[in-house]
Amino acid sequence: MKCFPHGCLTYGQGPAGTAFSSLVTHLLAAQCLITEPWPKDYSYGLTSGDRFDFIIVGSGTAGSLLASRLSEDNSTVLLIEAGGDPPMESIVPNFSGATHKTRNAFQYYTEVDENSNKGSISEISYWPRGRVLGGTGSINGHLHMRGSEGDYAPWHLEENDGWDWPTLKKYFMKSEKMVDPLILNNPELRKEHGTEGQFVVDQLNFTHGDIVEKLTNAYKELGLTYLDDLNGPTQMGVGKIRGGIHKGRRVSTATAFLNPASERKNLKVMKHTFVNQIEFDEKTNKAIGVKVSLLYGDIETYYANKEVILSAGTINTPKILMVSGIGPKKHLKELKIKVKSNLPVGQNLQDHVRIPIPVTVDTGATQRDEHFWLKAAAQYLLDQTGPHTTNYDQPNINAFLSVEDGKSLPDVQIDHNYFVPNTSYVFSMCTNTMSFKDSICKQFADFNKDKELFIFFVSLCRPHSRGNILMRGNNPMEHPKIFSKYFNDTRDMDTFVKAIKKVTEIVNTPTLKAMNAEIKRINFEGCDDLEFESEAYWECMARTVTYNVYHPVGTAKMGKEKDPESVVDSRLRVIGVKGLRVVDASIMPTIPSVNTNAAVMMIAERAADFIKEDYKIKENKKDEL
Ligand SMILES: Cc1cc2nc3c(=O)[nH]c(=O)nc-3n(C[C@H](O)[C@H](O)[C@H](O)COP(=O)(O)OP(=O)(O)OC[C@H]3O[C@@H](n4cnc5c(N)ncnc54)[C@H](O)[C@@H]3O)c2cc1C
Repeated sequence: MKCFPHGCLTYGQGPAGTAFSSLVTHLLAAQCLITEPWPKDYSYGLTSGDRFDFIIVGSGTAGSLLASRLSEDNSTVLLIEAGGDPPMESIVPNFSGATHKTRNAFQYYTEVDENSNKGSISEISYWPRGRVLGGTGSINGHLHMRGSEGDYAPWHLEENDGWDWPTLKKYFMKSEKMVDPLILNNPELRKEHGTEGQFVVDQLNFTHGDIVEKLTNAYKELGLTYLDDLNGPTQMGVGKIRGGIHKGRRVSTATAFLNPASERKNLKVMKHTFVNQIEFDEKTNKAIGVKVSLLYGDIETYYANKEVILSAGTINTPKILMVSGIGPKKHLKELKIKVKSNLPVGQNLQDHVRIPIPVTVDTGATQRDEHFWLKAAAQYLLDQTGPHTTNYDQPNINAFLSVEDGKSLPDVQIDHNYFVPNTSYVFSMCTNTMSFKDSICKQFADFNKDKELFIFFVSLCRPHSRGNILMRGNNPMEHPKIFSKYFNDTRDMDTFVKAIKKVTEIVNTPTLKAMNAEIKRINFEGCDDLEFESEAYWECMARTVTYNVYHPVGTAKMGKEKDPESVVDSRLRVIGVKGLRVVDASIMPTIPSVNTNAAVMMIAERAADFIKEDYKIKENKKDEL
């Protein structure tokens, strides 16, 4: 985007005129202020064959943080990123959805699955992954959720493996800079949070405070406990969400960790550079570097003295491993790829599947006036406040509940959308973001005609189903085959349907009854004969309006070295080769109950210390600029 010249302005007369022209000048200049001090691009500034101590592939949530930590001392670090600088839509919180179907994201789709997505366009699920500095953390929904001790119990397999809860909590807190006064002013809550880290976590705003109050009351009437902090010891209940939005801008690991480190001489970032495969020393089976394609097609090789670290995310990390000869032997042989280590790469894929439940209500809210968004834009440009600083204007509470009472971990998480009557973008949100067929999206738009509309998004916290990823061929740039296998394990549907029934009881609470709340039936061939709100109906809906929270994890599973399901050991080293680690969401053995970004940051913090220990790198030596 170019900045407009503003020399055409004449100066106003008197205080009013001066204020007027100063405002116009400010607004015109403001577009140039919506950027960040991104690091310099070295993609055409290095020489093929250059050596670094560490090469990190991918500057996403994990990679940006790790690059910052590993370059704290004198180690030389090369961070290679397939994308470029995040656009304005990534920085302005309300627009993050606008980054998805663009070049700033890998456009991944799942394969058709007989158990799900019947109402999705082409019956497949859309899985965007960020292709920019900050990775998926630059296009995500900002929520910062840790989960609780029980979520990470399956990760901790042996004494002293470094994955016990007190250690993990320490790493969660290390990155965090909590600034919400509600937490800071309460010593009990404050002690659960980091305040000295670089990743600012703040309150998330919403434009309809009254609606959130009503929704919260309804959950309380349903029997849920109000939690002041959803990142406390438990998530079971309802409470305010918090996340990476500060002073009206996105906080990502690129803005929080990479940008402040970008002046270090020992850290170089290559943008628009695609890592094709890992180079190995054939004799020792040690990863010695990476082969890359630059923006204009040049192929180059860069070498690592110590390690190559893959932080390319749950879909791209297994691709790079498989193309490089690390994966299931049978699959690699079919692709005519020489096998270096026979490992279950691409297996163990897990995701939070979710469905939208439409509920109309009547609180007397009216359609927004035609100038609402114009005023919102001016407000944002003036002082970075207002509707554009919200994470797409979601009611800022989430709820967690389990089918049976007394469980310590939730079965489902519920987030919400709220639309005043006749909101113009309900149809486009449904078709673009949720990727449902027009016949379904027309119904959502109709529900909103002259009525307020809630969407209760119910997602399954800890699915048993496991999907997988396979290569189509041996071309590293080709999109892989993604098998979501949502509901493949029948226990998932059983829990999901029971939980949905429990959630939908909310319309019978006094608060929602007083709002004339009504669950709306979504008509769809195959579900139409089923009794509305019966278990069979909800099962049919789950298989039809299948959506997800974009949280795929697990395709390079961490575990014991001898376990045939493991791809990396507990220090995240790839089994069967040397000099290669994976540090991103793909190492998760099991998905936590909550959104995954904070857990990925924790993994990167954890890994940074493993690596520093292994190479006897001193802690936090001062930057040498
Ligand atoms: C729409 C959406 C909303 C979400 N909302 C939330 C939320 O609100 N809260 C939350 O906690 N989580 C959320 N998540 C999930 C969360 O953002 C991810 O779990 C997390 O960002 C994953 O981090 P990662 O480091 O594993 O991978 P990524 O952040 O995806 O990083 C991978 C990086 O590697 C680069 N790369 C890939 N392949 C190559 C290659 N061959 N060569 C060079 N570079 C390469 C990519 O461009 C990318 O920058 C959301 C995800 C999406 C898609």
